[in-house]
Amino acid sequence: MPELPAICRTCGTVFGSGLDANNVKNLTITNYRAGPCPKCGGVGEIPDGVYEVIGQAINVLTSSSYSSAQLERIADVLRESRQSRTEPSARCRRARTRGA
Ligand SMILES: [Zn+2]
Repeated sequence: MPELPAICRTCGTVFGSGLDANNVKNLTITNYRAGPCPKCGGVGEIPDGVYEVIGQAINVLTSSSYSSAQLERIADVLRESRQSRTEPSARCRRARTRGA
């Protein structure tokens, strides 16, 4: 089951938030804190936004509080974790971070 990613507020590390989701559309995340950060022990958070989870794929539909670079980093982490667990054919479309 996919685990939504959290970003450490202190060091920027992306790690699993502990919040699992499965086959959810329009999952709205606001002010969701997660942690501690595996690197520095700080507080992390799932970026506010709307998520879609289908199978092993997590798509970020909209997000406002993080830069596209940070969201791209999340997408990279998601891709890596997905590739280690699932077939390459399960790749999803790239996260859309603009156009809200
Ligand atoms: Zn940290």
